[in-house]
Amino acid sequence: MLTIGLVLPDVLGTYGDDGNALVLRQRARMRGIDAEVKQLRYGDAIPESLDIYTVGGGEDTAQILAAQHLAADGGLKRASEAGRPILAICAGLQVLGTNFRAAGRMVDGLGLIDATTSSLGKRTIGEVASIPLIDGLTAPLTGFENHMGATILGSDASPLGRLTRGVGNCDAHGSRSPDDVGVEGATQGSIIATYMHGPALARNPELADLLLARAMGVAVDELAPLDIDCVDQLRKERLR
Ligand code: GLN
Repeated sequence: MLTIGLVLPDVLGTYGDDGNALVLRQRARMRGIDAEVKQLRYGDAIPESLDIYTVGGGEDTAQILAAQHLAADGGLKRASEAGRPILAICAGLQVLGTNFRAAGRMVDGLGLIDATTSSLGKRTIGEVASIPLIDGLTAPLTGFENHMGATILGSDASPLGRLTRGVGNCDAHGSRSPDDVGVEGATQGSIIATYMHGPALARNPELADLLLARAMGVAVDELAPLDIDCVDQLRKERLR
């Protein structure tokens, strides 16, 4: 049984990112792998030994609550230290970072990603696309961004993709060096984080399968291929 932890859907569920957990479950089941989603709500302890975790986006106040709960609980940190795959979206990316600006102040994050988030010159809302920069991904990444965060990665984190469209991590206003601009998302250890809503895994099946393969301890090409016509059509339309 593959257990997918859906982290704080009641707090970080504003942007439809709960769909990432459903995509993982469905792509596992379509291959005959038993899978279930375990909802981990605000106040619940986060078990550290689930197979994979997804964290969604949310408004500023919600993400402050999320950061406080996850820091006090400690389970997600232990899961990351044990190398469990974690997917974090937008506010999720910011919360897993070192610190972030929300509701007008700097707030401590979990420190699982070497990243600090201040503010963009103006909110970015629209399509975001990038060329992946990490091993195991070759297809262009596509999503929808809606955020105010200017995220700067430190030396322990690497960007997920090089932008072909959208603002991604940071604009010129929030940057400290030219390297901060033109990139999207972050990877560090077992964590993949991104500004892509969509949900990201519905739009990027290769990313979903990379996470599944890591969770199962197999190579991606050991997973049976899935041909889902409507996913191909969606990608063509979004990447046009
Ligand atoms: N509140 C954060 C921001 O505006 C995150 C938004 C989100 O998760 N889409 O940057």
